[in-house]
Amino acid sequence: MAPGLYLVATPIGNARDITLRALDILSSADVLAAEDTRSLRRLMEIHGIALGGRSIVAYHDHNGPRARPRLIADLAAGRSVAYASEAGTPLIADPGFDLAREAVAGGYAVTSAPGPTALAAALSVAALPTDKVLFAGFLPNTASARRRALSELASVPATLVFYESPKRLGAMLADASETLGGERRAAVCRELTKKFEEARRDTLSALAETYRDAPPKGEIVVVIDRGQKGDINEDAVETALREALRHGSVRDAAAGVAMAFALPKRQVYQLAMQIKGRGDDDSDSDEPDGIGAGDGV
Ligand code: SAM
Repeated sequence: MAPGLYLVATPIGNARDITLRALDILSSADVLAAEDTRSLRRLMEIHGIALGGRSIVAYHDHNGPRARPRLIADLAAGRSVAYASEAGTPLIADPGFDLAREAVAGGYAVTSAPGPTALAAALSVAALPTDKVLFAGFLPNTASARRRALSELASVPATLVFYESPKRLGAMLADASETLGGERRAAVCRELTKKFEEARRDTLSALAETYRDAPPKGEIVVVIDRGQKGDINEDAVETALREALRHGSVRDAAAGVAMAFALPKRQVYQLAMQIKGRGDDDSDSDEPDGIGAGDGV
């Protein structure tokens, strides 16, 4: 097998979703590395691949800086290194980025053995447009940071994909409904490729209601349709502004929200002033450049 780093996708639930090429690579790589050594060993057992005297090197978020030099040294010695994350595709909300980057910087071959990822599986079943997609990974944990992150995505003209934990799902959907608009279509995709796989497709507000007090079990991807052009939800703009005003000046809040919702800065600035309770005609100007008279609201 040619030397280099092989980023190997592994199943996200159903062990038979492994690819034939992934099995070839796992059986013949000189060095095996994994985010979770037990998961990879079990997967290899299921598919009858012998370790053949090889150990599996642990490489994960907590030991990356310590474990990387050894794997890079293996590449330098002309070995083939296969790396798998616990499930799905390495680097997709999983470790592997620094390893791949260092390998590329060192001039070593980096190749993928593509295969399962919850991102693609969810897009397949969500029944939402896939012509443009923004993968947003996991949202921040705290409610305020989550709402801020959502409001930044409000005007993105693409289907949005989030990884989410079951216990945060209800709160995330409530925030998404409020920030992006409750009428948007969305899908909660759960336990993909596993026994209790399901996809619930509905509006954000209906899904928020469904999961409000009923956290589901298992692994979850939330897919949300883009907003419709000209369909700006005023409540969503105001929510985003209130959130932004808690962290920044009127000027910054208005600029950020105007950009997020693709709205004229002046219009958003005036709303921000109203929220601050100072009125539209307040002349103490932290009015931002370029939104004076004639800026075309
Ligand atoms: N690298 C993986 C991939 O390619 O999808 C993602 C790893 S990330 C740490 C784990 C998250 O992916 C889970 O919290 C969940 O949001 C999503 N996920 C993984 N497997 C899933 C499945 N079978 N069904 C639904 N979501 C899944």
